[in-house]
Amino acid sequence: MQGGASAQFSLIPMNLAAPESSVDYVNTGHWSQKAIAEAARYCRVHIAGDAGGDYTRVPAQDELHFSADARYVHYTPNETISGVEFGYIPQTRRPLIADMSSSILSRPIDVEKFGLIYAGAQKNIGPSGLTVVIVRDDLIGDARPETPLVFNYRALADHQSMLNTPPTFAWYMAGLVFKWLKSAGGLAAIGERNRLKARTLYAAIDASELYRNPIAKDARSWMNVTFVLRKPNLDAAFLEGAAAAGLQGLKGHRVLGGMRASLYNAMPLTGVETLIAFMRDFERRYA
Ligand code: PMP
Repeated sequence: MQGGASAQFSLIPMNLAAPESSVDYVNTGHWSQKAIAEAARYCRVHIAGDAGGDYTRVPAQDELHFSADARYVHYTPNETISGVEFGYIPQTRRPLIADMSSSILSRPIDVEKFGLIYAGAQKNIGPSGLTVVIVRDDLIGDARPETPLVFNYRALADHQSMLNTPPTFAWYMAGLVFKWLKSAGGLAAIGERNRLKARTLYAAIDASELYRNPIAKDARSWMNVTFVLRKPNLDAAFLEGAAAAGLQGLKGHRVLGGMRASLYNAMPLTGVETLIAFMRDFERRYA
């Protein structure tokens, strides 16, 4: 589909829930809150779990309280900005919907556990705007009458996603990325690579005096490693030095500050090792 993951925030309730129906959402921070705000325009949203505080953890299974009549349960497996990730797939009686924008293809996925998976392509798949939606057949076909036809899941499925002109260049690029993933050993191999990248960087952060990762250990993201400097007055010098060393894009998202190293599939282990070498050197010089 087109429209990015944000379009799905509205299209999911429009396609799957009638105006009077209830839907369950788990709140783990920025992106789940965006999804919640949009869903609330279309149906009754019940918060089934809330990480609370400064959103540095995820709720445990026994902290999730679902409503009996919810059409679906929505959660964000990986919160891209804070770097908080579910270490488990929530068990639900109602269909589970996951915004996998920043975790899809980072490791094998048990697709059968989900009613719907969606993801903006721009992290691990290809150009932005392209959106992957994987939805169980029995959930589609009841879209609200006012749903635009080009955003109607049933109509799209009936037309093999080519109801109108698809974003052809983005599809082509995604195809190349899928071939590359397969040639790299598929998701099992990619998953091992990603686990090692994340583990290596977290270990370096934990071993240092200057850097700190604020996320609960069992909720640390593989894809987005956030860290703060214990001396925030060094932030600017850190970013400047990093850029001079060829390390770009480390500034944390504007809503959170601090630093964020995104380790999507395209980032090799050598990139992580280069970052760690820079971080150690910076700490030696400044701390
Ligand atoms: N959900 C998550 C988890 C994201 O990381 C992002 C984008 N960074 C979005 C939704 C929004 O995606 P898009 O820009 O494709 O609408």
